[in-house]
Amino acid sequence: MLIPEFSNTYAALGASFSTALEPTPVPSPELVKVNDELAKLLGFEPADLASEKGVNMLAGNESFEGMAPLAAVYAGHQFGQFNPQLGDGRAILLGEVVTSDKARFDVQLKGAGQTPYSRGGDGRAPLGPVLREYLVSEAMHALGVPSTRSLAAVTTGELVYREEPLHGAVLTRVASSHIRIGTFQYFAAKGMRDELKQMADYVIQRHYPEAAHKAQPYVELLIGVAKNQASLIAKWQQLGFIHGVMNTDNVLLSGETIDYGPCAFLDVFNPEQVFSSIDRGGRYAYQNQPSIAHWNIMNFAQTLLPLIDEDTEKAVESAQQVVDQFQGHYQTAYQEGMNRKLGLASDCVAGAALSDSFLVLLAEGQCDFTLAFRRLSEIFHETLSGSGGASAAGGDSVSALFEFPASFANWLQEWKQVLREPGCASTNPTEIFKANPVYTPRNHLVEKAILEGYQGNYQVFEDLLTRVTNPTMFNKQDAEYARAPKREEVVRQTFCGT
Ligand code: AMP
Ligand code: MG
Repeated sequence: MLIPEFSNTYAALGASFSTALEPTPVPSPELVKVNDELAKLLGFEPADLASEKGVNMLAGNESFEGMAPLAAVYAGHQFGQFNPQLGDGRAILLGEVVTSDKARFDVQLKGAGQTPYSRGGDGRAPLGPVLREYLVSEAMHALGVPSTRSLAAVTTGELVYREEPLHGAVLTRVASSHIRIGTFQYFAAKGMRDELKQMADYVIQRHYPEAAHKAQPYVELLIGVAKNQASLIAKWQQLGFIHGVMNTDNVLLSGETIDYGPCAFLDVFNPEQVFSSIDRGGRYAYQNQPSIAHWNIMNFAQTLLPLIDEDTEKAVESAQQVVDQFQGHYQTAYQEGMNRKLGLASDCVAGAALSDSFLVLLAEGQCDFTLAFRRLSEIFHETLSGSGGASAAGGDSVSALFEFPASFANWLQEWKQVLREPGCASTNPTEIFKANPVYTPRNHLVEKAILEGYQGNYQVFEDLLTRVTNPTMFNKQDAEYARAPKREEVVRQTFCGT
């Protein structure tokens, strides 16, 4: 069996950072899915992972050689309330794998049993949320959004009890690391300065190595995290992705998206959209995501103060400066991406007014977010080359699925005018198709995959996965995966993966 060498630098940090423990075995694991491409990247042989021994490993029944499993401790602001003690309540980090090009990845089993941080929870995960996380995380990766990934999913042969008994499952999650803002908050709140420094140095070494050589390494760390977060949230906004639980324990310092609980992609564009059943106040609505990220970064900055300067006033001043730049970073990343979506060069200043007014029209017209932008890419080509728009990218047109209503006539005129101005249109004609994918894991499709999955049929899951991991090339035969949900299919609420 081909198993990459495990390395355990997180475990080596010491007992203040985690609790060593093995996954709790399950009665009869069965394979749902192995991610062949990711398996190979990490140095596994996919067929080995799919073998009986491999499936036992993925379920936590057998250990991978060289692993030192653990549950990490962290804290976090949940819906604005500080909880000083959280931690991996149902996830167990097996260890790290280093790829041939020296990238280090955590390999973690989610749903692997209780830990000291389970707080009364069962440590398990139902199959539905595991399938959802698999689909959405792999879709995000394919869409070019930094994200944790899914190496495998197995069922456990055990029921988990939520509102109803459900089949249990374990997801193998892969991430650049699982260190969160909440990890820093845990040590900061306890006044554990030595551990805080150890963690900060570890994160610098693992994710922001250039910061180590700067005069103010911890300020540099803050800058790096803030920039990554700004660019991440900009990508979410550009794709109509609503995370749903932007608590500080769900913010990774690596800049990857984590925690696909009640997340969802928008169908109809509505800036106030909330899907999560637990987000009653709409804290994490689509339009609030950038300001929540800013607030989260402020909380991260707070944890770093004792490391930045012994003089608190000086530390606050340095940190505040960085925090204040968040909105600028975000705005730049957002507008660059929106310009790309409109087929405009990144320095085309007309882009801001055009993208803002386009979104207003989308909301007023209750238009489908993904299809509207996609249709725009086709019109871009029709306008500039006079040829059949979609065929320019080698695909079919979505015009049968979406056409702009009359209310867009003026806007489309203005936009075409800007496109014809010298230097304004993007010079890379396929770029606009890449920026405007046609397939996202829409809620109603994910729900269908989950319902079928609970019946032991994973074909819908597989078919959807194929589309969302090749999100930009449209084929008319696949219209079922691209179209907006029918009225009776619309999913209005999503539930946490607990
Ligand atoms: P989340 O909302 O998924 O970010 O989870 C918040 C906290 O609850 C984390 O510390 C999780 O590990 C913990 N948690 C979530 N579900 C369970 C479960 N079924 N059993 C134990 N702990 C859980
Ligand atoms: Mg979480």
